[in-house]
Amino acid sequence: MKLPFIEPYRIKTVEEIKFSTREERSRWIEEKHFNLFNLESDKVIIDLLTDSGTGAMSDKQWAEMMLGDESYAGSRSFQKLQNTIEKLTGFPYLIPTHQGRAAENVLFSVMVKEGNIIPGNTHFDTTKGHIEFRKAHAVDCTIDEAFEVDREHPFKGNIDLKKLENLYQKHGKENIPLTLITVTCNSSGGQPVSIENIRAVKKLSDQYGIPVFFDAARFAENAYFIKQREEEFRDQSIKAIVKEMFSYADGMTMSSKKDGLVNIGGFLAMHDEKLYQEAGNFGIIYEGYLTYGGLAGRDLGALAQGLDEATEYDYLHARISQVEYLGEKLRSFGIPIQYPIGGHAVFVDALQFYPQLSREDFPAQTLGIELYKEAGVRGVEIGTLLADRDPETRKNRYPKLELLRLAIPRRTYTQNHLDYIATALKNVYDRRDEIKSGYEIEWEAPILRHFTVKLKKK
Ligand SMILES: *Cc1c(COP(=O)(O)O)cnc(C)c1O
Repeated sequence: MKLPFIEPYRIKTVEEIKFSTREERSRWIEEKHFNLFNLESDKVIIDLLTDSGTGAMSDKQWAEMMLGDESYAGSRSFQKLQNTIEKLTGFPYLIPTHQGRAAENVLFSVMVKEGNIIPGNTHFDTTKGHIEFRKAHAVDCTIDEAFEVDREHPFKGNIDLKKLENLYQKHGKENIPLTLITVTCNSSGGQPVSIENIRAVKKLSDQYGIPVFFDAARFAENAYFIKQREEEFRDQSIKAIVKEMFSYADGMTMSSKKDGLVNIGGFLAMHDEKLYQEAGNFGIIYEGYLTYGGLAGRDLGALAQGLDEATEYDYLHARISQVEYLGEKLRSFGIPIQYPIGGHAVFVDALQFYPQLSREDFPAQTLGIELYKEAGVRGVEIGTLLADRDPETRKNRYPKLELLRLAIPRRTYTQNHLDYIATALKNVYDRRDEIKSGYEIEWEAPILRHFTVKLKKK
Protein backbone atom coordinates (compact mmCIF):
# COMPACT_ATOMS: atom_id res chain seq x y z
CA MET A 1 0.00 0.00 0.00
CA LYS A 2 1.21 3.50 -0.83
CA LEU A 3 1.99 5.42 2.34
CA PRO A 4 -0.04 8.63 2.80
CA PHE A 5 1.67 12.00 2.95
CA ILE A 6 2.54 13.17 6.43
CA GLU A 7 3.72 16.50 7.73
CA PRO A 8 7.53 16.56 7.84
CA TYR A 9 7.51 17.93 11.40
CA ARG A 10 5.98 17.29 14.82
CA ILE A 11 4.36 19.80 17.15
CA LYS A 12 6.30 21.43 19.99
CA THR A 13 3.98 24.28 21.04
CA VAL A 14 0.16 24.45 20.86
CA GLU A 15 -2.33 27.32 20.98
CA GLU A 16 -5.83 26.98 22.48
CA ILE A 17 -8.92 27.31 20.29
CA LYS A 18 -12.06 28.76 21.98
CA PHE A 19 -15.33 27.07 21.04
CA SER A 20 -18.70 28.84 20.66
CA THR A 21 -22.34 28.07 19.81
CA ARG A 22 -24.28 28.88 16.65
CA GLU A 23 -26.48 31.31 18.63
CA GLU A 24 -23.43 33.22 19.86
CA ARG A 25 -21.91 33.36 16.40
CA SER A 26 -25.15 34.56 14.78
CA ARG A 27 -25.30 37.40 17.29
CA TRP A 28 -21.61 38.29 16.96
CA ILE A 29 -21.57 38.52 13.19
CA GLU A 30 -24.68 40.72 13.16
CA GLU A 31 -23.05 43.03 15.75
CA LYS A 32 -20.03 43.23 13.44
CA HIS A 33 -22.12 44.37 10.44
CA PHE A 34 -21.65 41.02 8.71
CA ASN A 35 -18.01 41.75 7.99
CA LEU A 36 -15.80 38.78 8.89
CA PHE A 37 -12.75 41.07 9.20
CA ASN A 38 -14.45 42.73 12.19
CA LEU A 39 -14.59 39.54 14.30
CA GLU A 40 -12.18 39.09 17.20
CA SER A 41 -10.08 35.96 16.65
CA ASP A 42 -11.38 34.37 19.89
CA LYS A 43 -14.79 34.26 18.21
CA VAL A 44 -13.39 32.15 15.38
CA ILE A 45 -12.83 28.40 15.69
CA ILE A 46 -10.87 27.74 12.51
CA ASP A 47 -9.44 30.81 10.86
CA LEU A 48 -9.11 30.55 7.09
CA LEU A 49 -9.36 34.29 6.49
CA THR A 50 -5.86 34.31 5.10
CA ASP A 51 -2.63 32.38 4.85
CA SER A 52 -0.80 35.68 5.32
CA GLY A 53 1.38 35.84 8.41
CA THR A 54 -0.71 33.13 10.08
CA GLY A 55 1.67 30.19 9.75
CA ALA A 56 3.81 28.48 12.38
CA MET A 57 7.55 29.11 12.61
CA SER A 58 9.97 26.23 13.10
CA ASP A 59 12.32 25.72 16.05
CA LYS A 60 15.17 26.84 13.79
CA GLN A 61 13.34 30.06 12.98
CA TRP A 62 12.74 30.70 16.69
CA ALA A 63 16.43 30.12 17.21
CA GLU A 64 17.10 32.83 14.61
CA MET A 65 14.96 35.18 16.70
CA MET A 66 17.53 34.81 19.48
CA LEU A 67 20.42 35.25 17.07
CA GLY A 68 18.94 38.48 15.69
CA ASP A 69 21.49 41.29 15.40
CA GLU A 70 19.73 44.55 16.20
CA SER A 71 22.42 46.86 14.83
CA TYR A 72 20.90 49.82 13.00
CA ALA A 73 23.12 49.36 9.94
CA GLY A 74 24.76 46.33 8.37
CA SER A 75 23.48 43.73 10.83
CA ARG A 76 24.48 40.07 10.56
CA SER A 77 20.79 39.21 10.22
CA PHE A 78 20.53 41.45 7.15
CA GLN A 79 23.60 39.84 5.63
CA LYS A 80 22.17 36.38 6.28
CA LEU A 81 18.93 37.40 4.55
CA GLN A 82 20.72 39.01 1.64
CA ASN A 83 22.85 35.91 1.09
CA THR A 84 19.81 33.64 1.20
CA ILE A 85 17.82 35.79 -1.22
CA GLU A 86 20.69 36.18 -3.65
CA LYS A 87 21.29 32.43 -3.56
CA LEU A 88 17.61 31.64 -4.16
CA THR A 89 16.76 34.33 -6.73
CA GLY A 90 20.01 35.68 -8.13
CA PHE A 91 19.06 39.28 -7.21
CA PRO A 92 22.02 41.10 -5.63
CA TYR A 93 20.10 44.16 -4.41
CA LEU A 94 17.70 43.83 -1.49
CA ILE A 95 15.48 46.35 0.30
CA PRO A 96 13.59 44.91 3.28
CA THR A 97 10.13 46.35 4.01
CA HIS A 98 7.56 45.76 6.73
CA GLN A 99 5.14 43.95 4.37
CA GLY A 100 4.57 43.10 0.73
CA ARG A 101 2.45 46.17 0.08
CA ALA A 102 5.23 48.35 1.43
CA ALA A 103 7.57 46.82 -1.14
CA GLU A 104 4.97 47.71 -3.79
CA ASN A 105 4.78 51.25 -2.45
CA VAL A 106 8.55 51.70 -2.57
CA LEU A 107 8.93 50.18 -6.05
CA PHE A 108 5.93 51.97 -7.58
CA SER A 109 7.06 55.29 -6.08
CA VAL A 110 9.97 55.05 -8.51
CA MET A 111 8.41 53.28 -11.47
CA VAL A 112 4.69 54.09 -11.75
CA LYS A 113 3.35 57.46 -12.95
CA GLU A 114 -0.16 58.79 -13.54
CA GLY A 115 -1.78 57.28 -16.62
CA ASN A 116 0.64 54.31 -16.81
CA ILE A 117 -0.51 50.81 -17.70
CA ILE A 118 0.71 47.88 -15.58
CA PRO A 119 -0.14 44.61 -17.32
CA GLY A 120 -0.04 41.27 -15.54
CA ASN A 121 -2.01 38.21 -14.63
CA THR A 122 -4.71 39.18 -12.12
CA HIS A 123 -3.12 41.75 -9.79
CA PHE A 124 -3.37 41.26 -6.05
CA ASP A 125 -5.74 43.71 -4.32
CA THR A 126 -3.10 45.83 -2.56
CA THR A 127 -1.04 45.89 -5.76
CA LYS A 128 -4.00 47.17 -7.70
CA GLY A 129 -4.67 49.63 -4.87
CA HIS A 130 -1.15 51.04 -5.10
CA ILE A 131 -1.39 51.29 -8.89
CA GLU A 132 -4.80 52.98 -8.89
CA PHE A 133 -3.80 55.28 -6.03
CA ARG A 134 -1.21 56.67 -8.49
CA LYS A 135 -3.95 57.06 -11.12
CA ALA A 136 -2.38 54.32 -13.21
CA HIS A 137 -4.16 51.22 -14.55
CA ALA A 138 -3.69 47.55 -13.65
CA VAL A 139 -4.67 45.57 -16.75
CA ASP A 140 -5.52 41.88 -16.39
CA CYS A 141 -4.00 39.73 -19.16
CA THR A 142 -4.67 36.31 -17.60
CA ILE A 143 -5.60 33.51 -20.02
CA ASP A 144 -9.37 33.12 -20.51
CA GLU A 145 -9.30 29.52 -19.21
CA ALA A 146 -8.60 30.88 -15.72
CA PHE A 147 -12.13 32.20 -15.52
CA GLU A 148 -13.85 28.91 -16.34
CA VAL A 149 -14.08 27.36 -12.90
CA ASP A 150 -14.68 23.78 -14.06
CA ARG A 151 -11.90 23.87 -16.62
CA GLU A 152 -8.86 21.72 -15.79
CA HIS A 153 -5.78 23.65 -16.86
CA PRO A 154 -2.40 23.08 -15.20
CA PHE A 155 -1.34 26.74 -15.26
CA LYS A 156 -4.33 28.98 -14.83
CA GLY A 157 -2.08 31.81 -13.69
CA ASN A 158 -0.54 32.12 -17.17
CA ILE A 159 -0.53 35.36 -19.08
CA ASP A 160 -2.20 35.56 -22.47
CA LEU A 161 0.60 36.67 -24.78
CA LYS A 162 -1.78 38.15 -27.35
CA LYS A 163 -3.47 40.34 -24.76
CA LEU A 164 -0.06 41.39 -23.51
CA GLU A 165 1.34 42.18 -26.94
CA ASN A 166 -1.75 44.20 -27.84
CA LEU A 167 -1.10 46.39 -24.81
CA TYR A 168 2.58 46.68 -25.66
CA GLN A 169 1.74 47.75 -29.22
CA LYS A 170 -0.93 50.20 -28.15
CA HIS A 171 0.89 51.87 -25.24
CA GLY A 172 4.60 51.16 -25.67
CA LYS A 173 7.34 51.29 -23.11
CA GLU A 174 6.74 55.05 -22.60
CA ASN A 175 3.49 54.18 -20.81
CA ILE A 176 4.22 50.67 -19.53
CA PRO A 177 6.94 50.91 -16.87
CA LEU A 178 6.76 47.21 -15.99
CA THR A 179 4.82 43.99 -16.37
CA LEU A 180 3.99 42.18 -13.17
CA ILE A 181 3.64 38.41 -12.92
CA THR A 182 2.02 37.25 -9.71
CA VAL A 183 3.25 33.78 -8.69
CA THR A 184 1.06 32.03 -7.80
CA CYS A 185 -1.86 34.10 -9.02
CA ASN A 186 -3.97 34.70 -5.92
CA SER A 187 -6.99 36.46 -7.36
CA SER A 188 -7.64 33.79 -9.97
CA GLY A 189 -7.45 31.03 -7.36
CA GLY A 190 -3.87 30.40 -6.21
CA GLN A 191 -3.06 29.20 -9.70
CA PRO A 192 0.51 28.71 -10.91
CA VAL A 193 2.35 30.21 -13.85
CA SER A 194 4.50 27.88 -15.97
CA ILE A 195 8.15 28.47 -16.75
CA GLU A 196 7.21 28.22 -20.42
CA ASN A 197 4.85 31.18 -19.96
CA ILE A 198 7.32 33.14 -17.84
CA ARG A 199 9.98 32.65 -20.53
CA ALA A 200 7.62 33.79 -23.28
CA VAL A 201 6.53 36.88 -21.31
CA LYS A 202 10.17 37.79 -20.70
CA LYS A 203 11.08 37.33 -24.36
CA LEU A 204 8.17 39.46 -25.56
CA SER A 205 8.84 42.12 -22.92
CA ASP A 206 12.51 42.28 -23.92
CA GLN A 207 11.46 42.95 -27.50
CA TYR A 208 9.46 45.96 -26.31
CA GLY A 209 12.03 47.06 -23.72
CA ILE A 210 9.66 46.54 -20.78
CA PRO A 211 11.00 45.08 -17.51
CA VAL A 212 9.31 42.09 -15.90
CA PHE A 213 8.79 41.95 -12.15
CA PHE A 214 7.35 39.16 -10.03
CA ASP A 215 4.89 39.67 -7.23
CA ALA A 216 6.46 36.64 -5.60
CA ALA A 217 4.48 36.05 -2.38
CA ARG A 218 3.95 32.35 -3.21
CA PHE A 219 6.92 31.68 -5.44
CA ALA A 220 7.80 28.40 -3.68
CA GLU A 221 4.30 26.99 -4.13
CA ASN A 222 4.51 28.03 -7.78
CA ALA A 223 7.79 26.13 -8.11
CA TYR A 224 6.20 23.01 -6.58
CA PHE A 225 3.46 23.08 -9.25
CA ILE A 226 6.07 23.50 -11.96
CA LYS A 227 7.81 20.37 -10.68
CA GLN A 228 4.50 18.48 -10.66
CA ARG A 229 3.14 19.68 -13.97
CA GLU A 230 5.92 20.79 -16.29
CA GLU A 231 7.73 17.79 -17.74
CA GLU A 232 11.06 19.59 -18.19
CA PHE A 233 11.35 20.21 -14.45
CA ARG A 234 10.14 16.88 -13.06
CA ASP A 235 13.53 15.85 -11.74
CA GLN A 236 14.77 19.25 -10.61
CA SER A 237 14.93 20.41 -7.02
CA ILE A 238 12.58 23.17 -5.88
CA LYS A 239 15.54 25.46 -5.31
CA ALA A 240 16.76 24.91 -8.89
CA ILE A 241 13.29 25.66 -10.26
CA VAL A 242 13.05 28.80 -8.12
CA LYS A 243 16.38 29.98 -9.51
CA GLU A 244 15.20 29.36 -13.04
CA MET A 245 11.92 31.22 -12.47
CA PHE A 246 13.67 34.31 -11.14
CA SER A 247 16.26 34.24 -13.93
CA TYR A 248 13.52 35.65 -16.20
CA ALA A 249 12.66 38.58 -13.91
CA ASP A 250 14.26 41.99 -13.48
CA GLY A 251 13.11 42.21 -9.92
CA MET A 252 10.52 41.16 -7.37
CA THR A 253 8.27 42.35 -4.61
CA MET A 254 7.62 39.90 -1.82
CA SER A 255 5.21 39.48 1.05
CA SER A 256 7.27 37.38 3.46
CA LYS A 257 4.04 36.55 5.29
CA LYS A 258 3.36 33.84 2.72
CA ASP A 259 6.24 31.71 1.46
CA GLY A 260 8.67 33.48 3.80
CA LEU A 261 7.07 31.44 6.62
CA VAL A 262 7.15 34.42 8.98
CA ASN A 263 4.40 36.46 10.63
CA ILE A 264 5.45 39.86 9.29
CA GLY A 265 7.79 41.23 6.65
CA GLY A 266 8.41 41.86 3.00
CA PHE A 267 11.12 42.97 0.62
CA LEU A 268 11.98 44.00 -2.88
CA ALA A 269 14.96 42.69 -4.75
CA MET A 270 16.38 43.46 -8.18
CA HIS A 271 19.32 43.36 -10.57
CA ASP A 272 19.58 47.03 -11.46
CA GLU A 273 21.81 49.16 -9.24
CA LYS A 274 20.31 52.48 -10.33
CA LEU A 275 16.80 51.29 -9.55
CA TYR A 276 18.06 50.05 -6.19
CA GLN A 277 19.46 53.49 -5.39
CA GLU A 278 16.26 55.28 -6.40
CA ALA A 279 14.03 52.81 -4.59
CA GLY A 280 16.35 52.97 -1.59
CA ASN A 281 15.49 56.67 -1.12
CA PHE A 282 11.82 55.80 -0.81
CA GLY A 283 12.69 52.78 1.32
CA ILE A 284 14.44 55.03 3.80
CA ILE A 285 11.58 57.56 3.94
CA TYR A 286 8.79 55.01 4.24
CA GLU A 287 10.32 51.95 5.88
CA GLY A 288 13.61 52.65 7.60
CA TYR A 289 17.30 52.33 6.85
CA LEU A 290 18.30 50.05 3.96
CA THR A 291 19.42 47.11 6.10
CA TYR A 292 16.30 46.74 8.27
CA GLY A 293 13.35 48.32 6.42
CA GLY A 294 10.76 48.43 9.20
CA LEU A 295 11.74 45.06 10.67
CA ALA A 296 13.79 43.95 13.64
CA GLY A 297 17.07 42.11 13.03
CA ARG A 298 15.49 38.97 14.48
CA ASP A 299 12.69 39.19 11.87
CA LEU A 300 15.26 39.24 9.08
CA GLY A 301 17.01 36.16 10.49
CA ALA A 302 13.78 34.21 10.90
CA LEU A 303 12.87 35.14 7.32
CA ALA A 304 16.20 33.90 5.96
CA GLN A 305 15.60 30.55 7.65
CA GLY A 306 11.94 30.51 6.56
CA LEU A 307 12.80 31.06 2.89
CA ASP A 308 15.18 28.14 3.06
CA GLU A 309 12.55 25.84 4.63
CA ALA A 310 9.78 26.96 2.25
CA THR A 311 11.85 25.88 -0.74
CA GLU A 312 12.26 22.28 0.50
CA TYR A 313 10.24 19.66 -1.37
CA ASP A 314 9.01 17.73 1.70
CA TYR A 315 7.53 20.84 3.26
CA LEU A 316 5.81 21.91 0.03
CA HIS A 317 4.50 18.42 -0.67
CA ALA A 318 2.79 18.21 2.74
CA ARG A 319 1.50 21.77 2.47
CA ILE A 320 -0.03 21.44 -0.95
CA SER A 321 -1.32 17.92 -0.29
CA GLN A 322 -3.21 19.32 2.72
CA VAL A 323 -4.93 21.94 0.59
CA GLU A 324 -5.70 19.27 -2.00
CA TYR A 325 -7.13 16.96 0.69
CA LEU A 326 -9.66 19.60 1.72
CA GLY A 327 -10.53 20.38 -1.89
CA GLU A 328 -11.05 16.74 -2.84
CA LYS A 329 -13.23 16.19 0.22
CA LEU A 330 -15.47 19.12 -0.76
CA ARG A 331 -15.54 17.83 -4.32
CA SER A 332 -16.71 14.42 -3.07
CA PHE A 333 -19.64 16.19 -1.35
CA GLY A 334 -20.61 17.79 -4.68
CA ILE A 335 -19.68 21.28 -3.51
CA PRO A 336 -18.68 23.51 -6.46
CA ILE A 337 -15.04 24.52 -6.11
CA GLN A 338 -12.46 25.87 -8.48
CA TYR A 339 -10.26 23.33 -10.33
CA PRO A 340 -7.47 22.62 -10.27
CA ILE A 341 -7.24 23.18 -6.53
CA GLY A 342 -4.91 26.11 -5.79
CA GLY A 343 -1.72 26.05 -3.77
CA HIS A 344 -2.70 27.90 -0.62
CA ALA A 345 -6.47 27.79 -0.57
CA VAL A 346 -9.65 26.14 -1.75
CA PHE A 347 -12.02 28.45 -3.59
CA VAL A 348 -15.74 27.72 -3.40
CA ASP A 349 -17.76 28.97 -6.36
CA ALA A 350 -20.57 30.99 -4.78
CA LEU A 351 -22.40 31.57 -8.07
CA GLN A 352 -22.93 27.81 -8.43
CA PHE A 353 -23.46 27.33 -4.70
CA TYR A 354 -26.29 29.90 -4.54
CA PRO A 355 -27.64 30.22 -8.11
CA GLN A 356 -30.79 31.79 -6.67
CA LEU A 357 -28.89 34.92 -5.54
CA SER A 358 -28.07 37.87 -7.80
CA ARG A 359 -24.63 39.48 -7.94
CA GLU A 360 -26.02 42.43 -5.96
CA ASP A 361 -26.66 40.02 -3.06
CA PHE A 362 -22.88 39.44 -2.64
CA PRO A 363 -23.24 35.62 -2.84
CA ALA A 364 -19.67 34.80 -1.74
CA GLN A 365 -20.00 37.05 1.31
CA THR A 366 -23.37 35.43 2.06
CA LEU A 367 -21.72 32.00 1.92
CA GLY A 368 -18.89 33.17 4.19
CA ILE A 369 -21.41 34.35 6.79
CA GLU A 370 -23.35 31.06 6.64
CA LEU A 371 -20.16 29.01 7.11
CA TYR A 372 -19.13 31.14 10.07
CA LYS A 373 -22.52 30.75 11.74
CA GLU A 374 -22.52 27.00 11.09
CA ALA A 375 -19.11 26.14 12.54
CA GLY A 376 -17.06 29.21 13.41
CA VAL A 377 -14.97 28.76 10.26
CA ARG A 378 -13.87 32.10 8.83
CA GLY A 379 -13.17 32.33 5.10
CA VAL A 380 -12.96 35.44 2.94
CA GLU A 381 -14.89 36.83 0.00
CA ILE A 382 -12.98 37.08 -3.27
CA GLY A 383 -15.71 38.63 -5.33
CA THR A 384 -17.68 41.82 -5.81
CA LEU A 385 -16.81 43.41 -2.45
CA LEU A 386 -13.10 42.85 -3.06
CA ALA A 387 -13.33 43.99 -6.69
CA ASP A 388 -14.51 47.38 -5.40
CA ARG A 389 -15.84 50.20 -7.56
CA ASP A 390 -14.33 51.49 -10.76
CA PRO A 391 -12.18 54.45 -9.67
CA GLU A 392 -13.58 56.64 -12.47
CA THR A 393 -17.24 55.67 -12.84
CA ARG A 394 -17.63 54.65 -9.13
CA LYS A 395 -19.82 51.77 -10.31
CA ASN A 396 -19.54 48.32 -8.72
CA ARG A 397 -17.17 46.07 -10.66
CA TYR A 398 -18.51 42.56 -11.09
CA PRO A 399 -15.57 40.19 -11.51
CA LYS A 400 -16.03 37.04 -13.55
CA LEU A 401 -15.60 34.91 -10.45
CA GLU A 402 -17.43 35.16 -7.16
CA LEU A 403 -15.52 32.96 -4.70
CA LEU A 404 -15.29 32.16 -1.02
CA ARG A 405 -11.62 31.54 -0.30
CA LEU A 406 -10.66 29.09 2.42
CA ALA A 407 -6.96 29.88 2.87
CA ILE A 408 -4.93 27.33 4.79
CA PRO A 409 -2.29 28.76 7.14
CA ARG A 410 1.07 27.04 6.79
CA ARG A 411 1.96 24.26 9.29
CA THR A 412 -0.99 25.26 11.53
CA TYR A 413 -4.00 22.91 11.26
CA THR A 414 -4.31 19.12 11.33
CA GLN A 415 -6.32 16.73 9.18
CA ASN A 416 -9.08 16.66 11.84
CA HIS A 417 -9.46 20.40 11.41
CA LEU A 418 -9.80 19.91 7.67
CA ASP A 419 -12.50 17.25 8.15
CA TYR A 420 -14.38 19.64 10.43
CA ILE A 421 -14.26 22.40 7.80
CA ALA A 422 -15.46 20.06 5.06
CA THR A 423 -18.37 18.77 7.15
CA ALA A 424 -19.39 22.32 8.09
CA LEU A 425 -19.47 23.36 4.45
CA LYS A 426 -21.46 20.25 3.52
CA ASN A 427 -24.10 21.18 6.11
CA VAL A 428 -24.32 24.69 4.64
CA TYR A 429 -24.57 23.16 1.15
CA ASP A 430 -27.36 20.79 2.19
CA ARG A 431 -29.39 23.80 3.37
CA ARG A 432 -28.51 26.05 0.40
CA ASP A 433 -32.13 26.37 -0.81
CA GLU A 434 -33.12 28.12 2.42
CA ILE A 435 -31.08 31.19 1.43
CA LYS A 436 -33.37 33.54 -0.51
CA SER A 437 -31.42 36.81 -0.37
CA GLY A 438 -28.05 38.20 0.63
CA TYR A 439 -26.68 41.50 1.91
CA GLU A 440 -26.40 45.15 0.91
CA ILE A 441 -23.85 47.84 1.72
CA GLU A 442 -24.61 50.18 4.61
CA TRP A 443 -21.23 51.99 4.59
CA GLU A 444 -17.99 51.64 2.64
CA ALA A 445 -14.54 53.25 2.46
CA PRO A 446 -13.43 54.92 -0.80
CA ILE A 447 -10.61 52.38 -1.40
CA LEU A 448 -10.03 48.72 -0.36
CA ARG A 449 -13.57 48.71 0.98
CA HIS A 450 -13.78 45.00 1.81
CA PHE A 451 -11.70 45.39 4.98
CA THR A 452 -14.11 47.78 6.69
CA VAL A 453 -17.41 47.57 4.81
CA LYS A 454 -20.62 47.49 6.89
CA LEU A 455 -23.38 45.30 5.52
CA LYS A 456 -27.00 44.69 6.37
CA LYS A 457 -29.41 41.90 5.51
CA LYS A 458 -31.47 42.53 2.41
C1 LIG B 1 -0.16 39.24 0.47
C2 LIG B 1 0.16 39.65 -0.88
C3 LIG B 1 0.59 40.95 -1.16
C4 LIG B 1 0.68 42.03 -0.11
O1 LIG B 1 1.50 41.67 0.92
P1 LIG B 1 1.27 42.13 2.45
O2 LIG B 1 2.41 41.49 3.16
O3 LIG B 1 -0.05 41.60 2.87
O4 LIG B 1 1.31 43.61 2.47
C5 LIG B 1 0.90 41.25 -2.46
N1 LIG B 1 0.78 40.34 -3.44
C6 LIG B 1 0.38 39.08 -3.21
C7 LIG B 1 0.28 38.09 -4.32
C8 LIG B 1 0.04 38.70 -1.92
O5 LIG B 1 -0.39 37.46 -1.70
